[in-house]
Amino acid sequence: MEERVSRQNSLFHPYCVLVPDKPITNPIYNLMAIVIDPTILAIIHQHNHILCVSHVNPDGDAYGSLLGMGWILRHLGKNPVLAMQDRTPTEFRYLPGSGQIINPSAVANTYDLIICLDASSADRMGTVFRAEAHAPIPLLVIDHHITNTRFGTVNWIAPDCVATCQMLVYLAQALDVPLAGPLAECLLTGLVTDTLGFRTSNTTPTVMETALQLMHGGANLPNIVARTLSRRSARVFQLWGVVLADLHLEEGVIWVTISREQMKRAGTNRDDGQLSSMLITAAEADISATFTEKVDETGQVAVECSFRAKPGYDVGALAFELGGGGHPPASGCTLPGTLAEVSQRVVTALKAAHQQQAALK
Ligand code: AMP
Ligand code: MN
Ligand code: MN
Repeated sequence: MEERVSRQNSLFHPYCVLVPDKPITNPIYNLMAIVIDPTILAIIHQHNHILCVSHVNPDGDAYGSLLGMGWILRHLGKNPVLAMQDRTPTEFRYLPGSGQIINPSAVANTYDLIICLDASSADRMGTVFRAEAHAPIPLLVIDHHITNTRFGTVNWIAPDCVATCQMLVYLAQALDVPLAGPLAECLLTGLVTDTLGFRTSNTTPTVMETALQLMHGGANLPNIVARTLSRRSARVFQLWGVVLADLHLEEGVIWVTISREQMKRAGTNRDDGQLSSMLITAAEADISATFTEKVDETGQVAVECSFRAKPGYDVGALAFELGGGGHPPASGCTLPGTLAEVSQRVVTALKAAHQQQAALK
């Protein structure tokens, strides 16, 4: 069992030192504002047959960092295998290399090294990681979640980075891999999606410089935005129409529940935190949540919880305590139980957190 201790008050990330933002004198090509531990570079150099994996219920940073790592390793003459538990949704199929992602049944038992990207705990790798077969293989964890449980043999955790893709920009530079072509396109995707189009409160000039460099390398920002943030199925609107009719707002917390029946009727099984991100724009709320009913791998009814917080509030700590993870402004967890039970219990905890945090302001 991995140890789950709260690291909310600690910005412990030994291998990543970002230089604080300062007035920009030389806006481009001055991005080595980071120190990467030589152990990380060495473990990559030393191995050839490498399995790369990202998290279940994947987002743009999961695909961007998985595929980006693939391009970095191929540039170094290595033979990476990329795997994901979930099938690639249509919106990410434009990403170069996405067709080569394999599913868990095609994952072998023997590799020299496993690299896990953008996942805060081992369970997030889903069925790609088979504990018995894969535990003896060295595991390199590259992630930016402050709640990361450090489950790898070597861990590079950088909560100051807005996306795992930002870390890979620094990694590519350290490994002398040009930030161009398919690699640039994949890495800019993670930056764009995890910052909701450079709008989150952690979007610093350094982040913009990183994006600028990827664009100079050929990454197409408008195309990435059009394919990801600015595109959703009309079925999702139908689902929102139904669930928003029963919107709750109490004590600074706004939330909705989404049942399997509602998803079935709307013809979609995906929301991906989009509704949570929209709800947090409500002027009356400081914390938002969506509760989505699902059936887990064992056939048990479970609820996927997605949280967002306005600047000054933190939903990462609660998600971590509940067995999930994330960042102070965006986090999530999956809990066993019915929609009614879980949403009631978690909303009570969110209201308590809200009250506590509001008192500190
Ligand atoms: P989402 O609401 O799905 O967009 O997720 C927001 C953030 O919380 C992302 O950084 C996710 O990686 C993280 N997150 C969501 N669900 C979980 C979970 N079950 N366990 C750990 N982290 C999660
Ligand atoms: Mn992610
Ligand atoms: Mn991420």
